[in-house]
Amino acid sequence: MAHVHVIGAGLAGLSCAVRLIEAGHTVAIYEAAPHAGGRCRSYYDSKLERTVDNGNHILLSANTEALDFLSVVGGRNRISAPPGAYFPFVDLANGERWTMRPNPGPIPWWILSHDRRVAGTRPYHYLRGLRLLAAKPDSTVAQVLYSPDDPLWERLWKPLTVAILNTEPEHASARLLRRVLLMTLAQGGAKSKPLTATVSLSDTFIDPALAYLAQAGTPIHFGQRLRRLEGTRAGIARLDFGKTQVPLGPDEMVVLAVTAPVASQLLPALKVPEATRPIVNAHIRLPHRARLAEGIPYLGMVGGTAEWLFLRQDVASVTVSAANELVDYGAEDIARIVWRDVARALTLDPRLRPATRVVKERRATIAQTPADLRRRPKPGTPVPNLILAGSWTCTGLPATIEGAITSGRTAAKLVTKRMGRYPHRR
Ligand SMILES: Cc1cc2nc3c(=O)[nH]c(=O)nc-3n(C[C@H](O)[C@H](O)[C@H](O)COP(=O)(O)OP(=O)(O)OC[C@H]3O[C@@H](n4cnc5c(N)ncnc54)[C@H](O)[C@@H]3O)c2cc1C
Repeated sequence: MAHVHVIGAGLAGLSCAVRLIEAGHTVAIYEAAPHAGGRCRSYYDSKLERTVDNGNHILLSANTEALDFLSVVGGRNRISAPPGAYFPFVDLANGERWTMRPNPGPIPWWILSHDRRVAGTRPYHYLRGLRLLAAKPDSTVAQVLYSPDDPLWERLWKPLTVAILNTEPEHASARLLRRVLLMTLAQGGAKSKPLTATVSLSDTFIDPALAYLAQAGTPIHFGQRLRRLEGTRAGIARLDFGKTQVPLGPDEMVVLAVTAPVASQLLPALKVPEATRPIVNAHIRLPHRARLAEGIPYLGMVGGTAEWLFLRQDVASVTVSAANELVDYGAEDIARIVWRDVARALTLDPRLRPATRVVKERRATIAQTPADLRRRPKPGTPVPNLILAGSWTCTGLPATIEGAITSGRTAAKLVTKRMGRYPHRR
C-alpha cells in the first residue's frame, strides 16, 4: 500500500482521496486555499445574508461517477431531481415559454409531441442532430449544426453547447458535445434529468467528503501552496511548500490535482490546454420567495444575456457561460443587465434594484475547442510516483463535476497499479 500526497482539495483531489482510502492506501491532502471545494463550493455572503455557490452547477442523471461518489461519502440524498427530464425555457425577446420533456426511454417519441418538444420546432428539425455522428475531430458545433433558418439553433443547440462545454459553438468541439449527448439525451429522459444541490454545493459535495475523510483520519493541510516538485525523472523526492518541506519515502506517491495553469507552472514540460473560458454568476436577493412553473428550481433563458436561472428560497442565481465579453463589465453593470432578464423571467418589477452579488470566474473551465482538447494530458506521467488529476486532464468528458470526479478515481486506480509495478523503486 502507498502513502499518497494529494495536492488540491477540489473535486478531483477529494474524489481521488476517497478512492485511495477505499483501496487501503493512506492519504494526506494539501490545499492552497483555506477551504476545500475549489471551483465547486459555497460560502456565506454578508451582502445578501445568504449562503451562495461560487456558481450554479447542474449534474445530469447520466453522471454516474459523480452520483457514485456522493453515495460513498453520504451526499446522495442532498441532490434534488425533477420528476422527469424537464427543461423549462423562456424566450426573453417575446415572452414565449415551453418545457422540453424527453420521454424516459431511448426511443425519442417526445420529438413527435408538440407539448414535449421545443416551441416553434417540427420533428424534422431534430434530424439535424444526427449530423453530429459524422463530426470530424476538428469540427466545431457550429460547423456541424448551424443553419440560419433552423429554430433549434438558438433554442437548443446553442444553449446546450454553452451550458455543457462553456465554449461558444463557433469554437466548441462537436465531438465532445456528441459524447455528452450520446450519454444523455440519446439514452432518453431517464439519463437526462437535471440534478441540483438542494441546499448548496458545499452541503452536497464538499462537506460530506470532508466528513468521510475526517472519519478515515486523513489530514487536510489548508493554506499549503505547493511551490515546487523536487526530484528527477526517476521520482519526486520532495514537496516544497515554502516554509514546509515534505520528503517522500520509497512507497510514497503524489497526485497533482490542481488546475491546468498551476500544473504547467509546476511541470514546465507538461503540455496542457492553454485557453480558458469565464463564467459569470449573479446572485440576487429577491424581495420575497419566488417559484417557477411546476416548482422546478431552474429555468433556461434565450433571447437575453442571462442563460440559466436557479431559485433557492429568495435567492435567484443567474449564469452566463463563455462570458468572454461580459466578464470585463463592472459588477454594477452586470447586475443591471441580468436583473432586466430575471425580472422578465419571474415577472417582477424591473425598476426594483435588489441586492446582487456578481461572481466572476475568469478561468472557470478550459476552452473545449478541438485544439485545446488535444492538449489534455493522460493521468500517468513518465515520473513513476507522479500522477495527474483534474477536470482538464484527458477524461474524454467535458471539464465538469463528472469529469473532475472521474479523473480522481482514475488517478487512484493508477496509484494502485503503479505501486504493484514499481514498489520501493527509488
Ligand atoms: C462558475 C462555474 C460553473 C460551473 N458549472 C458547472 C456545472 O453546471 N456542471 C458541472 O458539472 N461542472 C460545472 N463547472 C465545472 C466544475 O466546477 C469543475 O470542473 C470542477 O469543480 C473542477 O474540479 P477540479 O478538482 O478539477 O479543479 P478545482 O476545483 O480547481 O480544484 C483544484 C484545487 O487545487 C488547489 N490548488 C491550486 N494550486 C495549488 C497549489 N499550488 N498547491 C495546493 N493546492 C492548489 C485549488 O485551490 C483548488 O482547490 C463549473 C465551474 C465554474 C467555475
